[in-house]
Amino acid sequence: MDSETYGTFIQHVKEINTLRSIQALLEWDQETYMPQRAAEDRGNQLAAVAGVLHEKLTRDELGDLLTKLEQEADAENYVAATNVREVRREHDRAVKVPTELVKRIAKATALARDAWVPARKDADFPRFAPHLEILLELKREMADRIGWDSEPYDALMDEFEPGARAAVVQEVFDKVKAELVPLVAAIKDAPRQPNTSILERACPPDKQGAFNRRIAEAMGFDFEAGRIDVSVHPFCSGHSPKDVRFTTRYDEHYIPMSLFGVMHETGHALYEQGFDAEHTGTPMAINTSLGIHESQSRLWENQVGRSRLFWEHFYPALQAEFPSLADVPLDAWHFAINTVRPSLIRVEADEVTYGLHIMLRFDLERQMIAGKLPVPDVPQAWNAGMQQLLAITPPDDAQGCLQDIHWCMGIFGYFPTYALGNLYAAQFFAAARRAMPELDRQIARGGLRPLREWLRENIHQHGKRYRAHELVKVATGEELAHTPFIDYLNGKFRPLYGL
Ligand code: ZN
Repeated sequence: MDSETYGTFIQHVKEINTLRSIQALLEWDQETYMPQRAAEDRGNQLAAVAGVLHEKLTRDELGDLLTKLEQEADAENYVAATNVREVRREHDRAVKVPTELVKRIAKATALARDAWVPARKDADFPRFAPHLEILLELKREMADRIGWDSEPYDALMDEFEPGARAAVVQEVFDKVKAELVPLVAAIKDAPRQPNTSILERACPPDKQGAFNRRIAEAMGFDFEAGRIDVSVHPFCSGHSPKDVRFTTRYDEHYIPMSLFGVMHETGHALYEQGFDAEHTGTPMAINTSLGIHESQSRLWENQVGRSRLFWEHFYPALQAEFPSLADVPLDAWHFAINTVRPSLIRVEADEVTYGLHIMLRFDLERQMIAGKLPVPDVPQAWNAGMQQLLAITPPDDAQGCLQDIHWCMGIFGYFPTYALGNLYAAQFFAAARRAMPELDRQIARGGLRPLREWLRENIHQHGKRYRAHELVKVATGEELAHTPFIDYLNGKFRPLYGL
């Protein structure tokens, strides 16, 4: 491989990613500290950066460099191979979708959002339906431009989970569904139920913030390369391993919101801080997929954060900080933070029912994009699905098919990454425990760094070297399977609920 050509290519790629980091920083500021009246200016700033970014990504010069490097490919050099392959993918996606279509989608989503807000408020699906129709048509057009083999949905999902195929995802989801539905039903009628009121006891937000920082630090978050702030919708924004910022929000009378929110976002943040700094600004230091990203947050939030082992060490500290919990025994706390209850709203769902909310959306999206589910039938299909999976029916569409913002933003193919994240998380955690027989004891003593190291070595440092399904195999020795997730849920929830 000609090192001069590669050098020029990497310089170009780093410029693209510098623009992305500027974009991310502007967005982070918009959600945290930006004064309200700056909204219009910020819109102009973001549009300007997006324009330059698109121009750089689609430039012929980049296409020529890629072609040259592909001809000289050296299979031994996986760093170069990864960077070339991933930038090719992005360049092609950007070139294939004409600016004119991007503009039409942007306009349609703006109008759809204007309709969705009041439609959700008044539970008035017909008001949103024509917009959904238009967006589906535009996204089908986009999928056709990008290209697909078995179904257009694959081309859309590929944006978030590169290389994933809907038919394969469906197969795994079906197996999970077959196990989850009876488990949820059994838990609903279980002889033992948690006392959830203890979670509503007063815990001052400033003390919550201090406690969260202790947990994030114990997990290995580097505060000299990142920060925690407050925003309405929590998120994590990575600019480089040296600058990773995430947010949380507080509810004085519901401590799990920020506590598990911070463990979740710290999981995302550790992934971003765990990339090899030498490769900053190139695909080798960028996440594999959103599903893998979500696996890191779910692993820390659920597998670790909602385990009894973790609280063996941290619960006395929590009680010392919050006297309102002083008379609550560890077991009662552990049961309460593992409450499972079929509910209507996805974002409030627990770790057992959550996947079912996702599988419903995945199923409907796939049918809508394929043109098999007419838009006017969506509410009915939604409600039938909720009844079948969770045995509840939304009283109206605001608590049903209108609840999520994704569709009005034209985002299709994103939801499955959430459920994939849970599956990956369980499989990674099982592999880490196999590799480190002392892991449970370490966690019970508050020693979380060894787990971070394992994740760093087996997942984080690879960046985009592997596609998600390959990474699962490399890190765990096995293909993606539903069993680690189901075994984990049965192992935790059946004893808890006395089943
Ligand atoms: Zn997340």
